Amino acid sequence: MLQKVEGIIIRTNDYGETNKILTLYTRENGKIALMARGAKRPKSRHASSAQLFVYGIFIYQSSRGIGTLNQADVISSFRDVRSDLRLTTHAAYIVELIDKLTEDNSRNPYLFELLYQTMNYLDEGSDPDILTRIFETKMLEVAGTSPVLDRCILCGNPEGGASFSLKHSGLLCRRCEMEDEHRLSVSPSVIKLLRLFQYIDIKRIGNINVKEETKKQLKTLLNYYYDEYVGVRLKSKKFLDQVDQLYES
Ligand SMILES: [Zn+2]
Repeated sequence: MLQKVEGIIIRTNDYGETNKILTLYTRENGKIALMARGAKRPKSRHASSAQLFVYGIFIYQSSRGIGTLNQADVISSFRDVRSDLRLTTHAAYIVELIDKLTEDNSRNPYLFELLYQTMNYLDEGSDPDILTRIFETKMLEVAGTSPVLDRCILCGNPEGGASFSLKHSGLLCRRCEMEDEHRLSVSPSVIKLLRLFQYIDIKRIGNINVKEETKKQLKTLLNYYYDEYVGVRLKSKKFLDQVDQLYES
């Protein structure tokens, strides 16, 4: 059966001498894998479309196993993201995160939209650190491990304090903070931003200005949280951290 989907290529793997297997995240069918026959040949009709980050309309023959790509109409290949090392590194991390945290053929149009908007904002020059932190925060929801940020996780006190507990996965108020000796102290602006990232539509974020110190805290907190609750090892994350260091100094 022929299928037509709107998607973004989130991974490519060589297959044999001339073929590629493309992993796409699509609006209609979630994550799918497609065989792009001959795509490694420079003169192939798939050569320019069978590339990481390409966004377009894909027509494929579905089958019980892996589908076969018939036609790809490229809408955008996110040129600015591709031509800038820092942006490429952020995008590579974002697509690997979505790849590792989703199952095949599990439809989630909201997640497709989030990926698409994030790539667009990266391409248009929005702050890559902030976009990546928003994406990480929203992916925690997809992974079912979002922290509680609008009240004390232990007693429900809406006046959450300045402590974050990895152990309990949320804020602690002043009365409860002794319950976790390894609690992290975080500034109120970090908590405010994380809450914003959880709930707000990425389209409404625009260009928000965040102090470098706050950005660092956000990154550290999310790193700890991912290590504790998500536990995926991503090659692209290691590289991203190295590239980020170049820009921090
Ligand atoms: Zn409490």
